[in-house]
Amino acid sequence: MKGFAMLGLNKIGWIEKEKPQCGPLDALVQPVAVAPCTSDVHTVWEGALGDRHDMILGHEAVGKVVEVGSLVRCFKPGDKVIVPAITPDWNSLEAQAGYSMHSGGMLAGWKFSNFKDGVFGELFHVNDADGNLALLPPSIDPAEAVMLSDMVPTGFHGAELADVQYGDSVLVVGIGPVGLMAVAGAALRGAGEIFAVGSRPLCADVAREYGATAIINYRDGDIVSQVMDRTKGKGVDKAIIAGGDVDTFAEVIRVLKPGGRIGNVNYLGSGDAVKIPRIEWGCGMGHKIVAGGLMPGGRLRMEKLASLLVHGRLSVAPLLTHRFKGFENIESALLMMKDKPRDLIKPVVVV
Ligand code: NDP
Ligand code: ZN
Repeated sequence: MKGFAMLGLNKIGWIEKEKPQCGPLDALVQPVAVAPCTSDVHTVWEGALGDRHDMILGHEAVGKVVEVGSLVRCFKPGDKVIVPAITPDWNSLEAQAGYSMHSGGMLAGWKFSNFKDGVFGELFHVNDADGNLALLPPSIDPAEAVMLSDMVPTGFHGAELADVQYGDSVLVVGIGPVGLMAVAGAALRGAGEIFAVGSRPLCADVAREYGATAIINYRDGDIVSQVMDRTKGKGVDKAIIAGGDVDTFAEVIRVLKPGGRIGNVNYLGSGDAVKIPRIEWGCGMGHKIVAGGLMPGGRLRMEKLASLLVHGRLSVAPLLTHRFKGFENIESALLMMKDKPRDLIKPVVVV
């Protein structure tokens, strides 16, 4: 079968591979709609996971089940399914401890385009199908449903990690698709003021639609002084990081009130250390918590997030700025994600 792969660091291309094997608990799925992720860009062009050879890329998909293992009870060939980017082993000790995304080791619940071939193949393998697939509700457009694989759950996890509460002032750093979903998640959790940081005008407009009350352009001056000016020197209750780099944490710690929490979902693709400024961290006693996490995956999460779309609480349509038709356009969509034209939020490929 054909797949679009990372051939090595900085190298991508089409390859031929054997059809994956379907174990008793697994499923084989044919993609219906897929999307590239900024994480694919970190993986290929920053070498964030180290070198990988001939690994099919992609971890965001809606698909059609073509085969299920003998022990799979809830899905059958022909079912249209949402496939989460993170597909944990649900019987692992890490999952039992509440950290399914780390089942089998740190980040090991993230299998597609990390430890095994991803979803940019003619077929892909899903472990623990009953635990990891969700039926696609018929009212959701498959192209929009792809946003449930990763963008919605990751952005929302940022709001969970930051523990956004009613009335909190929240800083969201980064308003690409992940940050925009963090803005939406913070608003749904009842945030009061939401400061959103980004420079692309389209993203700023969409951030306002999702509930941002002020936009901070990090290219116009540093984030710290802009937030401090707008909050009369008080800073914010919570912060979600969905963009920037290892140095962003220092800026965010500076604007966080004592007792505040940072929920980081940014994938730090490069840099050796995250530096926390000593004084602004209360000399180690400021009760400023930094929580960083990989999104939770699995079926229940997908079903619950899908219900937000079904019942009109969330629309992901504004994220889909570029739609491609045809499997062969996966390459163009990925390169677009790498180049980030200013009118891009998220490309999707309907296969
Ligand atoms: P984008 O590149 O589309 O968005 C990044 C945002 O950060 C943009 O708004 C950009 O602004 C802003 N930004 C860039 N540099 C800075 C800076 N120095 N200071 C402040 N803001 C800055 O990325 P995505 O939304 O697609 O993804 C965000 C991150 O989430 C990625 O690292 C991705 O790998 C990660 N991710 C994490 C997952 C998880 O489970 N934890 C899962 C999926 C993705 P501008 O308007 O100028 O472009
Ligand atoms: Zn991703």
